[in-house]
Amino acid sequence: MTEELALSDAAFGLGKLPSRLRPEATVRSVCGFCSTGCSLDMHLREGSAVNLSPSVLYPVNLGMACPKGWEALTPLDAPDRATRPLLRNRSSGRMEPVSWDRALTGMVERFRSVMDLHGPGSVAMLSTGQICTEEMAFAGALWKFGFGALHSDSNTRQCMATSHVAYKQSFGFDAPPYSYQDFEQSDVLVFIGSNLCIAHPILWQRVLKNPQKPEIIVVDPRRTETAMNATQHLALSPKSDLILLYGLAALLIQRGWVDIDFVESHTSGYADFSEFVLEFSLERVAAETGISAGQLLRVAETIHRGKAVSFWWTMGVNQSHESTRTAQAIINLALMTGNIGRPGTGANSITGQCNAMGSRLFANATGLLGGRDFLNPVQRAEVADVLGIPVERIPQQNSLAYDQIIEGVESGEIKALWIIATNTAHSWGGTGALGRALQKLEFLAVQDLYTTTETAAYADLILPAAGWGEKEGTLINSERRLGVVRKVRRAPGEALSDFNILRLVALYSGNGPLFKEWSSPEAVFEILKRLSAGRPCDITGIRGYGHLDAAGGIQWPFSSADREACGHSPSSGGDKDPLPVSERRLFGDGLFFTPDSRARFIYAAPRAMVHAANSEFPVVLLTGRGTSAQWHTNTRTGKSAVLRSLYPPEVYVEVHPVDLAGLGLASGDRVRIRSRW
Ligand code: SF4
Repeated sequence: MTEELALSDAAFGLGKLPSRLRPEATVRSVCGFCSTGCSLDMHLREGSAVNLSPSVLYPVNLGMACPKGWEALTPLDAPDRATRPLLRNRSSGRMEPVSWDRALTGMVERFRSVMDLHGPGSVAMLSTGQICTEEMAFAGALWKFGFGALHSDSNTRQCMATSHVAYKQSFGFDAPPYSYQDFEQSDVLVFIGSNLCIAHPILWQRVLKNPQKPEIIVVDPRRTETAMNATQHLALSPKSDLILLYGLAALLIQRGWVDIDFVESHTSGYADFSEFVLEFSLERVAAETGISAGQLLRVAETIHRGKAVSFWWTMGVNQSHESTRTAQAIINLALMTGNIGRPGTGANSITGQCNAMGSRLFANATGLLGGRDFLNPVQRAEVADVLGIPVERIPQQNSLAYDQIIEGVESGEIKALWIIATNTAHSWGGTGALGRALQKLEFLAVQDLYTTTETAAYADLILPAAGWGEKEGTLINSERRLGVVRKVRRAPGEALSDFNILRLVALYSGNGPLFKEWSSPEAVFEILKRLSAGRPCDITGIRGYGHLDAAGGIQWPFSSADREACGHSPSSGGDKDPLPVSERRLFGDGLFFTPDSRARFIYAAPRAMVHAANSEFPVVLLTGRGTSAQWHTNTRTGKSAVLRSLYPPEVYVEVHPVDLAGLGLASGDRVRIRSRW
């Protein structure tokens, strides 16, 4: 019993630890895996983190962490860390250690020579949602304003570009409106394409803290762990989500269960939408989704009776068929029932990566810094003014998107590529074809923690990068909360933070003067604040990293006016700043970010799947995360024996018993799966 108590105290960073384990100092840092954005207390000995525990007084995780968070330090100790720049010897084909000077001189020369010969569209950058916001902004600014390149995109394109577009079109800005407190304040929670239990386990814990015994409706073809805990599970036919959502809208209208006051005061397009959805009769929707009329009526009635209904979606929507329209069909349900802007409500996309939200706002990839548009001359001028650069340096065209960059590599249009902190050769569909394409490149630079990723195998140059815990910067979580990542370890060998690599590349490419002000992550944070001024994501009220730490992270927007409204005295210093309310949601005033401040009802007739099942490929494959202990392509989580023990050693599929019998297979059999890809 005593031992148990001691362990429990230790787990929360409290109580008296044996001196062997007692930390000399504790530093708080936001976790670098998923978008939940938990805070971890890093316990240091001799200035280096030896252990960690989840932060108790942090509004996101309230003392909890998933297995990945508990094991966050382990991947830093892996033996395959990149510790020196490696350059491919053209004669032997082997990767050989070189100095940073040689690596960067060669890299800049290669990109420059390709661009000189083939133009600014012949090179591209593929980046990530896994590095700090300041690093993303630096990478995107250096690449486009410094090098003069046109194309860069982030792997967040693969996760959630669809939600980003859905919000922009419906709300006027990419603005997930919620706060995690909404999980605890809803009396009806609707999850669509979200296995929250497994993919976002700490957020599921927030649902379990809901004191109201809420109705939990799960829309998912599979009986997932989340579906098993639902009060209503709609096991719809794969890819019929849009029809289901339009059918529910039609039912709500037919029954008169619409918040007409809200619709008339705060939205536009409802009249046309209500006419459009009437073709989704109960009979049609039941037939096309496989959900019975009775179940559909029960769901509509539950939504109607709910006092605070929240709608949540994740990758099952984002990465599926007609994703943008599906996300907007969810948004439409929230708007027409007035479930937005109040506690426990919202049309809420839960993101994936720890800094997907930072990427969406500040990566300067397919959108201009601060959620702006490269095609908008006024916004280009704003950015040039803030950065003090000639406006001509800002491209007047959009970048190719991630998939188009890959196509460009395959076609030979893209001849040199810089990949930062993402494992494209594993994560992109059709890996064999992609591998052959990467080999065609004249030059491939890979910036990563490890030398052994599938992508690093094709590199001409590997730049050794520091990992989470070995550098500093901010991340933005799913609920728009900025939190600070702290340096609690020294990177191995000659590895450098992505930020410092970018500083060096700026110098070696002759862009030092242009990026003189970009001297440290916190200096760049000040630039980001200026870029956000007057935008929906205004963060000018955040004084700096100390303010973020003291506040337990701060959600955007938090403008200077917001800071003053919560009691700031202009003479007060950083630590004396008043702390904002720790959980805030958007649209409480019913005003959206569109020119007329009204949210839009957006819809379109459902289209047939492009690659539907047929006689050659008779089975629909749905992907999903099977475990909370694995992340992305496993480059980091695969390094932990603890995490490896929490998931099966081999890839597996689950097949419906009826399909299984039809295939003449039994549970546990080995199968070979072939897809069009
Ligand atoms: Fe929290 Fe996500 Fe980190 Fe797990 S991986 S501790 S849920 S932020």
